[in-house]
Amino acid sequence: MTSTAGVVVVGGGQAGFSVVSALRGAGYDGPVTVLADERHLPYQRPPLSKKAHTGPDGLRVDLVPESFYRERDIDLRLGDDVIALDRTARTVITRTGTRVPYDHLVLATGARNRPLPVPGAELAGVHALRSLDDALAIGRALSTARAVVVVGGGFIGLELAQVAAARGAHVTVVELADRLLSRAVSAQLQQHLRERHERSGVRILTGTAVQSVEGSEGRVRQVVTDRGTLPADLVVYGIGAAPRDELARDAGLAVDDGVIVDERLRSISDPRISAVGDCARHPHPHAAGLVRLESVQNATDQGVLVGRRIAGASEPYASLPWFWSDQGDIKLQIAGLRAPADAVHLVAGDSPERLAAYAFRDDRLVAVETLNWPAEHLAARRLLGRDTPVRAADLAGSTLGALARARRATEVRT
Ligand code: ADP
Repeated sequence: MTSTAGVVVVGGGQAGFSVVSALRGAGYDGPVTVLADERHLPYQRPPLSKKAHTGPDGLRVDLVPESFYRERDIDLRLGDDVIALDRTARTVITRTGTRVPYDHLVLATGARNRPLPVPGAELAGVHALRSLDDALAIGRALSTARAVVVVGGGFIGLELAQVAAARGAHVTVVELADRLLSRAVSAQLQQHLRERHERSGVRILTGTAVQSVEGSEGRVRQVVTDRGTLPADLVVYGIGAAPRDELARDAGLAVDDGVIVDERLRSISDPRISAVGDCARHPHPHAAGLVRLESVQNATDQGVLVGRRIAGASEPYASLPWFWSDQGDIKLQIAGLRAPADAVHLVAGDSPERLAAYAFRDDRLVAVETLNWPAEHLAARRLLGRDTPVRAADLAGSTLGALARARRATEVRT
């Protein structure tokens, strides 16, 4: 008997969008429903922390127009969040009480920001950034802010620091760790990145703990750190995110900082449920154990894989992880997955602003980080994506297009 409940996707971000667009692209003709808590059409998140949000139309970030969903018979339901899964009845339940049955359920619920864990975080003028509404609020605040304190020297913090500096504010980044971007970038590349931020006028305090945020009449006035007090009329923070995996946990699925899925991105507890994007913890050929990746590449490629899989395909997930971050004039790009113990070789590019860091594990290239060197990043993606072995010796003494040379050396050898 043909089942008719179809596919239900929880979450209307990049990953959820990719699932439904790939489903229809692959010819799936059953019912497709997207349940999204936000009221906006699914939108791109990367520009939210990179653009100054000043245009007359605010921010135009829709992934596709509303007609895309209509023309493909995708039932996009906005502004109602799913509060429970009933796996026995194969039904999801929304806050407004709607019950939606599924044959296959895809969790694409993303992540939520870690809250700023200090007194005063609730004052007006203290913002986190995740949603389009957050970005619009920060954009409005930046039109009058003079002194901006950014808490967290990760991707979001450093992008916003440059946005605020470009709008003329005095910007201080307060980072708890002893260096910037400790999760994502090697110490070697980080040092150069830091110098570029400082040259652009952004002040950076590492190894500094925020103790409280203080204000008057409900509005922020200063940030108290263990190394002194910083005046602030706007505080933005980006101190990491946690996966939104509580629906899965409450429904009895295996969860450990993300919904645990197999190599085809199915829950290891229930083959009718998949998880994609920021909320999924998955095996990957480039990782030693399970990984959870917060990136547009991962959300898109996992969404496409699951959409195609439900429509009949069956390949495991093996896309090369890559990341980018535009911080003012600084373009940071990363291909592959580096681990803290990997050996890192820094190589200067053919112009002063270009720089690359190559990470090796057991003498094998595993990741390439670049500053302002998109061609080198693309070369790295091709190389790492093919999984061709490249050894440290291939890069010795290189100062120009090092990776391209290494690739030629590899091709000669194979
Ligand atoms: P995001 O996506 O929010 O930018 P990242 O993990 O890239 O997340 O960066 C978060 C940064 O915030 C890290 O550099 C981390 O060390 C820093 N951080 C975490 N907690 C605090 C805190 N309480 N104060 C300042 N920085 C913090």
